[in-house]
Amino acid sequence: MAAMTRPLLNRRLAEFGTTIFAEMSALALSTGSINLGQGFPDTDGPEEIREAAVRALRDGRGNQYPPGPGVPELRTAIADHQQSRYALSYDPDTEVLVTAGATEAIAASLLALVEPGDEVIALEPYYDSYAACIAMAGGTRVPVTLRPRDGAYHLDLDELRDAITDRTRLILLNTPHNPTGTVLTRDELAAIAALAVERDLLVITDEVYEHLTFDGAAHIPLATFPGMRERTVTISSAGKTYSFTGWKVGWATASPALITAVRSAKQFLTYVSAGPFQYAVAEALRLPAAYYDDLRADLSAKRDLLSDGLQAAGFEVYRPSGTYFVTTDIRPLGPALSQNGDGFAFCRALPDRIGVVAIPNAVFYDHREQGAPFVRFAFCKRTEVLQDAVDRLKGLS
Ligand SMILES: *Cc1c(COP(=O)(O)O)cnc(C)c1O
Repeated sequence: MAAMTRPLLNRRLAEFGTTIFAEMSALALSTGSINLGQGFPDTDGPEEIREAAVRALRDGRGNQYPPGPGVPELRTAIADHQQSRYALSYDPDTEVLVTAGATEAIAASLLALVEPGDEVIALEPYYDSYAACIAMAGGTRVPVTLRPRDGAYHLDLDELRDAITDRTRLILLNTPHNPTGTVLTRDELAAIAALAVERDLLVITDEVYEHLTFDGAAHIPLATFPGMRERTVTISSAGKTYSFTGWKVGWATASPALITAVRSAKQFLTYVSAGPFQYAVAEALRLPAAYYDDLRADLSAKRDLLSDGLQAAGFEVYRPSGTYFVTTDIRPLGPALSQNGDGFAFCRALPDRIGVVAIPNAVFYDHREQGAPFVRFAFCKRTEVLQDAVDRLKGLS
């Protein structure tokens, strides 16, 4: 009897329910709205990379279980990428692990490194899987809030220092940062690194937007700072960089001891994944510099198109330095239009009003009131779709 009368979803996950993305995407469909909620491109990545996947499938490469750590071609390409981009040297055999997207790398890292009761510091607002994975690992999340000031979001280093206790096990960092578009600066990263060394903390860095930076903002991996290589798990993925979010090919790079720990969890989550796509991503990682320049130029123009449109419609816009999201403050729209600055109510009403879907940033906060008046729009869409959205936004006032 107890089996059915007890709540089915266990206590660790009960608070998480269904993600807002499911609700908002359903709303987009039922109202025929432009979906700027979920962050996936509406065009696929390079044709030659798609062809590489087809070739791997046809040639029978990866159609059966690939090696646990990932196929050697991809591990080597990941190591070469870290070396040529950041002068970070990793051994493809012992310091690189291929995962089912960055999502699995994050989950496996937390499940491997966190003991029940450990505290995990994460920058708030945070990517939605962080809270759930910290909970599944039995950890306690400790949010450190990024605060909007002068048109951008900033980390308060004193707040971070104060958040560290004797029970802190690790810091879960994300830069370039979703949803705020902030790219942590060299000074901020140096300060975080110094704290991690001083307090002997591990760091997991989610760098899936490493190539999506604008206006000369540079992404610097935390692992490049003194004392950090041996205590940092660096995570990235092919989804955002190459516009193949459905392939779910991600990876972690770290010291042999850390990779061995993460692999211990990973092997019982998916064991392996996406065989043929691993060969294709190995080729993607060897695309010339022009690919990344074009990607950045394209997204930067789209960022400006949507940001200018939002600004003209009356939003306060936090023009991002990285990622493909723009965060806005809806309060300047006035109490009626902004539903008294309630991002949830605003996003639920927006599809019926003008046929556009966005995401209330409050879902990315523990301190929901901190995120209440903020709303996120994705600009990884075709120019004509963004132009249509901008035209619709004009109808708001
Ligand atoms: C999209 C995203 C991920 C997930 O990446 P996958 O490779 O699709 O699993 C992880 N972190 C952040 C911040 C993201 O925006």
